[in-house]
Amino acid sequence: MENFSLAIHGGAGTILKSAMTDRKERRYHRALEASLKAGEKILSKGGSALDAVEAAVISMENSELFNAGKGSVFTHEGDHEMDASIMNGADRNAGAVAGVRRVKNPISLCREIMENCEHVFLIGEGAEHFAETRKLEMESKDYFSTDFRYEQLQKIRDTHQTLLDHSDHELKKFGTVGAVAKDVHGNLAAATSTGGITNKRYMRVGDTSIIGAGTYAENDICAVSSTGWGEYYIRAVAAYDVAAMMKYGDKSLDEAAHQLIHEVIPKMGGDGGLIAVDSNGKITMPFNTQGMYRGFVQSDGNSRTLIFK
Ligand code: ASP
Repeated sequence: MENFSLAIHGGAGTILKSAMTDRKERRYHRALEASLKAGEKILSKGGSALDAVEAAVISMENSELFNAGKGSVFTHEGDHEMDASIMNGADRNAGAVAGVRRVKNPISLCREIMENCEHVFLIGEGAEHFAETRKLEMESKDYFSTDFRYEQLQKIRDTHQTLLDHSDHELKKFGTVGAVAKDVHGNLAAATSTGGITNKRYMRVGDTSIIGAGTYAENDICAVSSTGWGEYYIRAVAAYDVAAMMKYGDKSLDEAAHQLIHEVIPKMGGDGGLIAVDSNGKITMPFNTQGMYRGFVQSDGNSRTLIFK
């Protein structure tokens, strides 16, 4: 049997040790460990990379610590609009969703779209209608709302500014989530989910729901999940750019991911990070911010959760 690998992120940004209490730090580590466990349980039994990334992301969507599912940031109108996408490296099938307000686990809706819909990308009410036909769990607005996200909105609501979750220097709340995996059958998969950015308007959609920007997976190359200033990741076609550098440029996973995060994105003016795994199960997790909630587990027993540089 081949090896397996799983990497996860809970967002990159201005995450400073000085602004974190021990208790809070432990809560984040526990939440990251729970997500890794959810995915590892599947991979260690020979389950698929696709099931593992979905399970790992669901675990973080259900935690209010992260900006995805429960705990999503607020839009200007005081609502939540969630974006997510999933991709299967084996056949490059994909499912994506944007601007959903009531779906408990947007990543599971992506999976349903991928497997049970003739389309790849659904948005807003149409996506919710499809979720209902697939009997997915729906929640009311209260379920997604948390006090600290509401405070974040209040601080900037009357400005024309939007706030990247991870650039809130005062509150330092972070949290788009993602997972990438390689299973024992050699298949790769990636998944990403977010509430987007605080105070967003006009049904703004970020990179998270865009295949090739926030999420990409292709067997024999790599699987990538991004977090950061979405507008730049869209323009850089970030996740696919990592794969393309490997595929056509013969770069290693490390070299390609490093080039994107430390050269391409900052040169354009953006910031953030990504997690990626290649077809050998090698993991890379670069970021150009102060921190990134992240973790990994591999079949050789190697496992860690990390927050700071
Ligand atoms: N990339 C996400 C977006 O722009 C935000 C994040 O990663 O925190 O919607």
